[in-house]
Amino acid sequence: MALIIDGKQVSQKILAELKEKTRELKETKGITPGIALLLVGDNPASKSYVASKKKACEELGYFSIVEHLPETTPEAEVLKLIHDWNHDERIHGILVQLPLPRHINELKVTLSIKPSKDVDGFHPENFGRLVIGLPGFRPCTPAGIIELLKFYKLPTSGKHIVVVGRSNIVGKPVANLLYQKNPDANAIVTICHTGASDLRRFTRSADIVIAAIGKPKFITSDFLTNGVVVIDVGINRVDDPSSPKGYKIVGDVDFDDVEPIASAITPVPGGVGPMTIAMLMKNTFLSASGELKYEA
Ligand code: NDP
Repeated sequence: MALIIDGKQVSQKILAELKEKTRELKETKGITPGIALLLVGDNPASKSYVASKKKACEELGYFSIVEHLPETTPEAEVLKLIHDWNHDERIHGILVQLPLPRHINELKVTLSIKPSKDVDGFHPENFGRLVIGLPGFRPCTPAGIIELLKFYKLPTSGKHIVVVGRSNIVGKPVANLLYQKNPDANAIVTICHTGASDLRRFTRSADIVIAAIGKPKFITSDFLTNGVVVIDVGINRVDDPSSPKGYKIVGDVDFDDVEPIASAITPVPGGVGPMTIAMLMKNTFLSASGELKYEA
């Protein structure tokens, strides 16, 4: 029986601590953490992510602005809004919900966010800081994975970790975090992608596998060896006529097949997913409190 890594429980603990620290910050320094959320268009998944983030802000006592703009909003208008938030002292974190409509250049928008308010950690300055080990905002999902490994005392130092997926928001940053020379990391990391003609050759040699692929139940037990730790980042909608919604969410790992041979595994839902919002709230708190010394 594998240890089930309960991201819901860990995220609730982090959020409860942040709520208390937020109360103290307001009382002692008169600072209320503030976040600005931008949603462009009506993508249902994006709308639900933004609603969850707004709810988390309310529960923690953060100040929040949610701007929901129509799909046809010109790029210049988005850039102007971010410019204003960059200069708004009430706002410590700016979050643009991706994906943006096709006529808006995502990189341009990401670059327009002041790095010291980039609580998503997507700005190249923050990514560069991560790679060379300087303080900066770490992307939320990768940071959440590190927190889960730490919480359950699953050692990474000297372990071989195989990350499947090289996206800029999950695969690359989590791999970079995990090989850093510090006790919470210090792993030997391999990054796999579609260029790997025999993926099993790599995953079978892993102590820890992190799946960030975007393909439902792709990783089965034959990819793995006994005792492996499995972190499933995937969030995939698959048809499920028995559910009132007509679909259910599954990960990139075939949980039922893999759980019997794993030593620890994250479920989907309830594993990595809840950690993402918790880390966003943590980044915003660090920005507001000044605990993150952003300057070199
Ligand atoms: P992307 O689609 O950006 O990247 C997928 C990666 O998987 C690519 O690097 C791709 O390789 C690789 N890949 C795809 N097929 C294979 C294969 N057959 N063999 C090896 N590698 C493969 O996805 P994201 O990183 O954005 O997201 C991954 C998953 O995580 C999704 O399900 C997403 O919904 C979920 N997610 C969950 C979050 C959370 O909060 N829990 C947050 C963000 C994402 P290549 O580069 O060669 O194309």
